[in-house]
Amino acid sequence: AALDRKTEVDIPGGWKVGAPVPYAALAKTFALIEATTKRIEKTSLLTSLLLLVIERSKEGDADSLLRTVYICINRLSPDYIGIELGIGESILIKAIGESTGRSLAIIKSDLKKEGDLGLVAMNSKNMQQTLFKPKPLTVPFVFANLKEIALSSGHSSQNKKVSIITKLLAACQGQEAKYIVRSLEGKLRIGLAERTVLVALAHAAVLAEQQRASKKWNKEKLASRLEEGAHVVKSVYSELPSYDKVVPALLEVGIAGLQEKCKLTPGVPLKPMLAKPTKAIGEVLDRFEGKRFTCEYKYDGERAQVHRLEDGTVGVFSRNSEDMSKKYPDLVEQLPHCIKESTKSFVIDAEAVAIDRSTGKLMPFQELSKRETDRKDVKVEDIQVRVCLFAFDLLYLNGEPLLHRDLTERRELLREHFQPVDFEFQFAKSSDNESTEDIQAFLDESVKDGCEGLMVKMMESEASHYEPSRRSVNWLKLKKDYLAGVGDSLDLVVVGGYYGKGKRTNVYGAFLLACYDADSEEYQTICKIGTGFSEEALAAHWDVLRPLELEKCRGDIKAGGAKPDVWFEPRVVWEVLTADLSLSPVYTAAMGLIDQRGISLRFPRFIRVRDDKNADDATGPDQIAEMYERQVLAQGSSKKQKGDG
Ligand code: ATP
Repeated sequence: AALDRKTEVDIPGGWKVGAPVPYAALAKTFALIEATTKRIEKTSLLTSLLLLVIERSKEGDADSLLRTVYICINRLSPDYIGIELGIGESILIKAIGESTGRSLAIIKSDLKKEGDLGLVAMNSKNMQQTLFKPKPLTVPFVFANLKEIALSSGHSSQNKKVSIITKLLAACQGQEAKYIVRSLEGKLRIGLAERTVLVALAHAAVLAEQQRASKKWNKEKLASRLEEGAHVVKSVYSELPSYDKVVPALLEVGIAGLQEKCKLTPGVPLKPMLAKPTKAIGEVLDRFEGKRFTCEYKYDGERAQVHRLEDGTVGVFSRNSEDMSKKYPDLVEQLPHCIKESTKSFVIDAEAVAIDRSTGKLMPFQELSKRETDRKDVKVEDIQVRVCLFAFDLLYLNGEPLLHRDLTERRELLREHFQPVDFEFQFAKSSDNESTEDIQAFLDESVKDGCEGLMVKMMESEASHYEPSRRSVNWLKLKKDYLAGVGDSLDLVVVGGYYGKGKRTNVYGAFLLACYDADSEEYQTICKIGTGFSEEALAAHWDVLRPLELEKCRGDIKAGGAKPDVWFEPRVVWEVLTADLSLSPVYTAAMGLIDQRGISLRFPRFIRVRDDKNADDATGPDQIAEMYERQVLAQGSSKKQKGDG
């Protein structure tokens, strides 16, 4: 499809080599991408745009491509730097009003009809009579302004934001306002997953290379180059998730040199490897049959990726790549105690667990979360709940990435280069026994020691290599809850609220939850949840959710038949347990994957707020379909057992 070179993105007025990328080129491409549901077409459209950007950038200019890519994925920096958009509806409505002269009441009423503030902004702009054509927007200008908006904080920041947005909107033409406003909201909603952006980036680089070499590869050769390019870029990005580093390198050394140039680097957190749930020890044994595997305690704390640079700088990152060094000053302070002299730079994967220093007992996550309400810049001496770091993997050591080494070797290096320190640093407890009885005994022991169960991991061969950002079958989690038949929990986004009744009239009494489909960038509703909340919890949820209320269901929330009293900006993630999943004519989760109907949770129960997850990290429809299938299988086998009996 990338062969299918289109130049629909050509811009009236031209776009000369060396000139800044016109924002209109992006807006046009976004509109075309939005209009198709075919992934191949989306990829090809974006490839065309990125190729144009490469062709028309001056020698040595990586910024044009970099900023274009950032706007396409709706981010302004790598995750760990954390410059985020997500401007509230009221600020945007105000800015639309100011730049178009329309009243707020009319804008709000349009929004109620359309459910898409981007569209409302565009229509409002296009209704306006303008005497002079504004100066065309460029990508560097838009990017700089988005960044300024995201960075402005404090007292008068609201007014400042409104004024910058007003200025941006005043310069918008055609469809630009639609995408500028959606960018500001935090989601472009054109069905462009980040994976597609990576593939398009790779394809554009390959095609640019072909042009530069004035070669005409035959169809097969080009196809294989494109495929290889996509593989390389995706894999490099998963090791070094920073476009700031990958994009300039790609332009400089091309696909062929990229892996050598961009490797896991301390200071740039990678997306952690995740595990698949299993329901029984038998399932683990089936999966790992004939292979060497290890069981480790599954500690009940917070994931912590600890980086140390050659110069001694330490960084602690969350599973979301957020910098937690300020939240865990005690971890930073403790770290030197466990490092041996030979250890200079490293990245370890670990769990930070609350520990009672008088008894050495591990405390559940709830204790740890008490710290989370603290200020972000806590002083070590003020910390009540202390943490111990349980290291379970070593991903980088003294200048060398270890992702492609066997777990056996990574573990040996970990034990060789670090030392346990009471209450501060331990190696995750492990057992390499393989019989059902041994695993059961180790599981019981883990629970007795305050853990959630076990993580079972492949030990040898390529299957034991570290797979960043993957929920891998080579890591299985065996939680005590599953064995009790409870099933895995889900992380769901709160998208709607129902006003309370009786005593609960001043709060929301129930909530509408949704899963997140990264491919279509949509939230799919899954259940209403209204039990298990204390009065205090309801009050706290009210405080957090009330400012997120929307005029109308946002376009990227696939509501189905759900009709909450209010809709929220999808931002808050809750962990929820369910007794059962069922097909539902009302909700839209995983629709079309198992059945034309969606899947819903029966008797959902709130467990906790997942502050460490963004709305994009919520459970996806694939996982929900998988859970449903497992349940059907389990019910089938229990029926069979009963029948056989
Ligand atoms: P969960 O709710 O189970 O934590 P999750 O989506 O956050 O789900 P999973 O992949 O499902 O992540 O479970 C793995 C998590 O368990 C890791 O993210 C990590 O925080 C924690 N953990 C505790 N002990 C270990 C261990 N020994 N190895 C790997 N992960 C561990």
